[in-house]
Amino acid sequence: MEEENIKEDANRKNNFIKNIITEDLENGKNNGKVVTRFPPEPNGFLHIGHAKSICLNFGIAHEFKGKCNLRFDDTNPAKEDQKYIDSIISDVKWLGFDWGEKIYYASDYFDKLYEFAVELIKQGKAYVCSLTSEQMREYRGTLTEPGKESPDRNRPISENLDIFERMKNGEFEDGTYVLRAKIDMASPNINMRDPVIYRIKKMAHPRTADKWCIYPMYDFTHGISDALEGVTHSLCTLEFQDHRPLYDWLLDEVNSPCHPQQIEFARMNLNYTVMSKRKLQKLVENKYVDGWDDPRLPTIAGIRRRGYTPEAIRNFCNIIGVSKKESRIDVGLLENCLRDDLNDNAPRVMAVLRPLKVTIENWLHDQIEELEAQNHPQKPEMGTRKIIFSKTIYIEQDDFMEDAPKKFFRLAPGREVRLRYGYFITCKEVLKDKDGNILELICNYDPATRGGDAPDGRKVKGTLHWVSSEGSIPVSVNLYDRLFMAEDPEAENDDFTKNINPESLVKLEGCRVEKSLKDAEPEKAYQFERLGYFCTDSKESSKEGLVFNRTVTLKDTWAKVSQTNK
Ligand code: ATP
Ligand code: MG
Repeated sequence: MEEENIKEDANRKNNFIKNIITEDLENGKNNGKVVTRFPPEPNGFLHIGHAKSICLNFGIAHEFKGKCNLRFDDTNPAKEDQKYIDSIISDVKWLGFDWGEKIYYASDYFDKLYEFAVELIKQGKAYVCSLTSEQMREYRGTLTEPGKESPDRNRPISENLDIFERMKNGEFEDGTYVLRAKIDMASPNINMRDPVIYRIKKMAHPRTADKWCIYPMYDFTHGISDALEGVTHSLCTLEFQDHRPLYDWLLDEVNSPCHPQQIEFARMNLNYTVMSKRKLQKLVENKYVDGWDDPRLPTIAGIRRRGYTPEAIRNFCNIIGVSKKESRIDVGLLENCLRDDLNDNAPRVMAVLRPLKVTIENWLHDQIEELEAQNHPQKPEMGTRKIIFSKTIYIEQDDFMEDAPKKFFRLAPGREVRLRYGYFITCKEVLKDKDGNILELICNYDPATRGGDAPDGRKVKGTLHWVSSEGSIPVSVNLYDRLFMAEDPEAENDDFTKNINPESLVKLEGCRVEKSLKDAEPEKAYQFERLGYFCTDSKESSKEGLVFNRTVTLKDTWAKVSQTNK
């Protein structure tokens, strides 16, 4: 990890997993080594829940001076794809973590896994079974009733070896046989009732091509892969707790080089979104969103495109901590971590989203003046930049009101306001079209107020952001909001897509940003003063024009407000 992150690591909270590891180290377990792994299945893009697992696994390796492997759990060619592998690699790197030289793949172990399976058969600990999947379900029993033994359970070892080899050689069609571990059909733990460890799947694999037509199951692959890599602590989410006896059984029965310890922790869930890859896939495939990297999705690629920073995500994962208890975290907390980071680090600029033209009547026609603006009011070290004032400027439409109440401190006929870093202006006249729509304001400026203060000490209540026609460029803006209106989109409706927020994306054309942004780096967030944080969109921006995404509003507009009233 980069040097600057190390200090942040020092502030990392303690958690029960770190306590276990500290104790292991004190007891001299694993020869003082700590090896973890992050094992994604390349069947979709990573989401913020994975970020928790990434921060935990890489964070622990870093803190205990060990290592963390990135390992693709690629045992199901039906669902996996190289494009997912590529996106996962780029996301983990972007989050700021380093897995060293080598990327690991479960598929690299297919030969060894096959040998381990043969070994189990030879010991009488695995058998080839020809029950159909339906029969298998019937034989499995229930939580309250024991299972029934398969008629194939006592098939002679030599026959098992022969059929298993022929399965490998492609002699049988999908579904005709499986290889099962021979454990205990009466076990109270259903995972131990002779689980399937190999199945026939006549399908090419993204990495091993046509070499295999049998593929190992997840439970069989995972523990053995951990052991082959010398993993010491295999951290996984709670749903694997009931698989732990199987994890341990397999490692005890095969001649494994070591026996990693599986430790479970609670998944992270966020409100106002869905997280599982299957549901994200549904949103992508049915075009509710613009691909896996849509800025409204909780995918790493999406929030990155939205303008999130790796620092904010790491900080969020640190704050929420690690526990054994499932909980749903308020997405507002994630947004606040982002605001904290951007408030500190995002340069300030001015932009007008819904422009209202203002002509400064007493300004010379061609006169152009450069004014100095601070890039960050609390951080002088971030420097200043020049902004241009000219005869035509633009302010926000809702910063003007014709019949303004007394408490409206922005612009109104006859009233005076300050233009940030510019001058005081007073509204003289309102020009309208024949339908009464406001087209333009005619204002006067006070030359003595340059920079924003009146020498006579006169005060104005309002300060507006603005851009000038000469000093700005037209851009489009995507105003993103939460993708779902319901806190738990899955609980409050049978079909979670019914809870999609119809205003999760509002596209604005004809917005204007100051010229200094014409070469803005994609995904780098700026604070548009008074409006929020925005960054240019890496996909939609083109030579024809920049497109900005709203990363997050300045304040949490959802807090304490009903879901429709924002
Ligand atoms: P999903 O259920 O969202 O599709 P998954 O668990 O199938 O995710 P994997 O690719 O198998 O996705 O996950 C890789 C690692 O990330 C696993 O160790 C898994 O436990 C962890 N992980 C996945 N989702 C979360 C989450 N919401 N919170 C914490 N860790 C998670
Ligand atoms: Mg999974």
